[in-house]
Amino acid sequence: MARIVQKFGGTSVADIDRIKSVARRVQREVAAGNQVAVVVSAMSGVTNQLVGWTNAVAALPDQREYDAVVASGEQVTAGLTALALQELGLKARSYAGWQIPIRTDSAHGKARIESISTEGMIAGMEAGEVAVVAGFQGIAPGERIATLGRGGSDTSAVALAAALKADRCDIFTDVDGVYTTDPRIVAKARKLDKITYEEMLEMASLGAKVLQTRSVELAMNHRVRVQVLSSFNDLPGTLVVDEDEIVEQQVVSGIAYSRDEAKVTLVKVPDRPGVAAAIFGPLTDSAINVDMIVQNISEDGTTDMTFTVTKADLARTVKVIEGARPTLGFKELKPDSNVVKISVIGVGMRSHAGIAQLMFKTLADKGINIQVISTSEIKVSVLIAEEYTELALRALHTAYGLDV
Ligand code: ADP
Ligand code: ASP
Ligand code: MG
Repeated sequence: MARIVQKFGGTSVADIDRIKSVARRVQREVAAGNQVAVVVSAMSGVTNQLVGWTNAVAALPDQREYDAVVASGEQVTAGLTALALQELGLKARSYAGWQIPIRTDSAHGKARIESISTEGMIAGMEAGEVAVVAGFQGIAPGERIATLGRGGSDTSAVALAAALKADRCDIFTDVDGVYTTDPRIVAKARKLDKITYEEMLEMASLGAKVLQTRSVELAMNHRVRVQVLSSFNDLPGTLVVDEDEIVEQQVVSGIAYSRDEAKVTLVKVPDRPGVAAAIFGPLTDSAINVDMIVQNISEDGTTDMTFTVTKADLARTVKVIEGARPTLGFKELKPDSNVVKISVIGVGMRSHAGIAQLMFKTLADKGINIQVISTSEIKVSVLIAEEYTELALRALHTAYGLDV
């Protein structure tokens, strides 16, 4: 007998028929003698609609009320899934985050899980009851409903698997695993049987939304056995594993893209010690995260500084930098949201040279201009104009020998 967590994303619970089919999949695990906790997302499209409603009422909604609204989608699917399981003759009950409780910090809209009480759930599961948990939500200080950031049901599932000491955490989604790149953009993308925690973490944080970044962080820290697979077929999925479990390691294992970034250039900033601190200090004070940075040297005592922030932070960034204009004394501020960040990822990069060069050359051959570059031990990222996203992904996928 094993204890397993099964998570079903929005497309997998998109309508009543699919919820019934999820229930049948859960029934198979129960019939095999396993204890099962199910985590569900809102029906696909529902969370977007709920977010839209909050924005229609308030331009900058109070994040606690935003959470009260957007968390509701998961509660509906949790109840419906429990009902569908009961209709199959199983014992099942739903849990909202507060009923477990899943306690979070007070960063509403992107809260982090701090603790999970599992006694009640475990007692139920040991008595043969399937626990159906509303993903994406918890309870923050002050007994306020909190959500975990978009895509947060993955994190609910992995955190529960860790707390329940589950043998497995299966993430069911609308693709049958983690691919070398987004299979919806590159038809030649290849499914990976295994991927290391580290690579999955980079893939997720660089834009591959198949798993929420924080869920991978948690899985890595608690050594949760995560498997990504399709809820529409029974094909084997992708296992997220330790590096030593991978026998034949590719140099590059995946390519990710993120359309979430925007570029800001400050033209002709007087070049003196402290200029970077003067630019980025006010951004830090406003809780704006800066990702990529380049500074150009110029002959005339001024410099151009380019950096990226998330698209969501762009308007605020412009406001903050304009506010600091008297101290910074730059000539011009140029925001540009027409960019995409493309990253190649692989633990093999640690021991292989020339990976970045192949990226630069491949993009050059396609006539794609690189605007900003950043590297780390296991990834190289470039910023290019957004209209080249598909072209760049496909060319790089071929260049690194990843095509099926
Ligand atoms: P769910 O609703 O089940 O959580 P998501 O939409 O959040 O599903 O994540 C699945 C999607 O992630 C896929 O439909 C796919 O388009 C996208 N995706 C991006 N990069 C990858 C990748 N490398 N491998 C698999 N899927 C990816
Ligand atoms: N329903 C939430 C979202 O759309 C959480 C999730 O699906 O993981 O972001
Ligand atoms: Mg998701």
